[in-house]
Amino acid sequence: MPKPDAERHASAAAKPLISEKAERFTESVIRDMTRQAHLHGAINLAQGFPDFPAPAEIKRAAQQAIAADINQYAITWGARSLRQAIAAKMKKWQGLEIDPEAEITVCCGSTEAMIASLLAVTNAGDEIIVFEPFYENYGPDAILSDARPHFVTLHPPADPAGEWRFDERELRAAFGPRTKAIILNTPNNPTGKVFTRTELEFIRELCLEFDALAITDEIYEHILYDGAKHLSIATLDGMRERTITINGMSKTYSVTGWRVGWAVASPVLTNAIRKVHDFLTVGAPAPLQEAGAAALSLPAEYYAQLAERYRVRRDHLIPALAAAGFKCFRPQGAYYVMTDISAFGFDDDVSFAKHLLQEIGIACVPGSSFYRHPRDGARQVRFAFCKKPETLDEATRRLAKLKLTS
Ligand code: GLN
Repeated sequence: MPKPDAERHASAAAKPLISEKAERFTESVIRDMTRQAHLHGAINLAQGFPDFPAPAEIKRAAQQAIAADINQYAITWGARSLRQAIAAKMKKWQGLEIDPEAEITVCCGSTEAMIASLLAVTNAGDEIIVFEPFYENYGPDAILSDARPHFVTLHPPADPAGEWRFDERELRAAFGPRTKAIILNTPNNPTGKVFTRTELEFIRELCLEFDALAITDEIYEHILYDGAKHLSIATLDGMRERTITINGMSKTYSVTGWRVGWAVASPVLTNAIRKVHDFLTVGAPAPLQEAGAAALSLPAEYYAQLAERYRVRRDHLIPALAAAGFKCFRPQGAYYVMTDISAFGFDDDVSFAKHLLQEIGIACVPGSSFYRHPRDGARQVRFAFCKKPETLDEATRRLAKLKLTS
């Protein structure tokens, strides 16, 4: 006999509405801070996106692509023109020979490239090593792909002009038989660290010894300061076949809303990444991929100018923060500055960030969102300086209102 309606509804209600995975992480704090900034009319130094125009030639290329009716799906793993431009650029800048037909997957931003890569290579219970503080996406990425993150600390320098470093023994101890991959991000968000050749060589040794992959997020590769050099781990001996290199247009060409990124890997890995990508999103925006091909063909001066302009912005914001009482960790790359907020006497980073937002009119990212245990980031907040000089001027004026405890 069929069950009476009431009974059927009661048993349906007993099921959890939300998946365990979705219960295990919160929405992005970085992206929430952008909404909070809008709400409070605050200057947004939280989420890392430029508030200045993208290069005119790239915008023109996008307009032309739409006018030429490049309005239907591109090939699911990326328009050929863009894949060829990615291969040519990697040859020029890294000396890597990449087959655009078999080794590149264009995705909806490097965010999708990262999750598609993890879904393509991990099995339940596999461990992935993540340096901490970490870009917050890597936490939910691990949960969604059933992998277990194993965090290794990047220790802040005693002298803020120094470098964040990992302890070789701690990193070695993190590797084991279950280690599937290490996630790297160089230049690093949020610390601004640029991994050195020696550090990458050490990581390479461990990847070889433990048969692990390197998944390397190199989205800030052109944003470097003080002579720092970017090195792709894929170029090191033995790493070409065991590296997934992730990059995208967002940061290099100031188009974070276009959502065009990519993953570069051996044909075997690429085949799996392409399948996952296909069923996640089918493809990245077709006309913007055409514009991407134009962007990646810009001359070397474009990149030199990009880095120099960001250096100026870094050197604009850091003194203003320091004068207000922040201890600033000087970044060597990317466009963020991690700071220590001990001088302000707040209980934690979240209450400080709230005060800064509501009373001073500046949005930042609470440090705890870059750590597994919130207490580890309780004395830190991150500022993004990818903003117009006028924006940084106004931030400087507002920072002058901030009071120290003593
Ligand atoms: N990478 C940027 C940041 O850390 C944001 C990227 C994003 O929100 N998708 O602020």
